[in-house]
Amino acid sequence: MNEAEQRRHLAAAFRWTARLGLHEGVANHFSALLPGSDTQFLLNARGAHFSRITASSLLSLDASTAGGAAHPDADPTAWFLHAHLHRLVPHARVILHTHMPYATSLACLDGFELQMLDQSSCRFFRRVAYDRHFSGMFLDDREGPRLAAMLADGVSTVFLGNHGVMVVGQTVAEAFDELYYLERVAQLHVYALSTGRPLQLIPDDIAELTCRQWLEYPEGPDLHFRALLEILDEEEPGYRD
Ligand SMILES: [Zn+2]
Repeated sequence: MNEAEQRRHLAAAFRWTARLGLHEGVANHFSALLPGSDTQFLLNARGAHFSRITASSLLSLDASTAGGAAHPDADPTAWFLHAHLHRLVPHARVILHTHMPYATSLACLDGFELQMLDQSSCRFFRRVAYDRHFSGMFLDDREGPRLAAMLADGVSTVFLGNHGVMVVGQTVAEAFDELYYLERVAQLHVYALSTGRPLQLIPDDIAELTCRQWLEYPEGPDLHFRALLEILDEEEPGYRD
């Protein structure tokens, strides 16, 4: 993996997020550390629509300057959040933040916790944190360090109460796969809860086993992402530019 490839992968993640309707206006942001660097990261430029993002349009920013002024082309809320997280959470090499509708709906429920409803829910078993303290937009240096403290090793997902979600991963493929399944699982939660019937939950020991099986499944996220790249290469190769 080199910088050009990382740029293409992140651009592809934006394009697919738009295809799936998981973006909101031009408000959400994804970032990814450059291969071989622990400080230099890619971020979408403010105002760019996810469906039109290209590899070369991604900004390259320095997380070691977190706390300083935002790049003029970066969204300030993205800068305050992602720069601090990349500085403080080494395992969060890729950070995806969206207001995707089903997961955000769940983030608005009082005391919500993800339930082990089905096989896909189990991949999030004990890998989710909940921030229940919405305090306005991320426009200062306090929110990043606060959220960083929630990203213990093994935690991939944070429900941001009354706001949205954040997903982290080692690679773009891994983080995108997590984001995709999170929204699928959230959709299932909304459907199941909407019946008003009692939920039949998977016991903890089986959920833990199934989670491990998900995480050890050979090439799972890579297979998914490779299939998505093939479609983009054929249908909208401009993302690579
Ligand atoms: Zn947001």
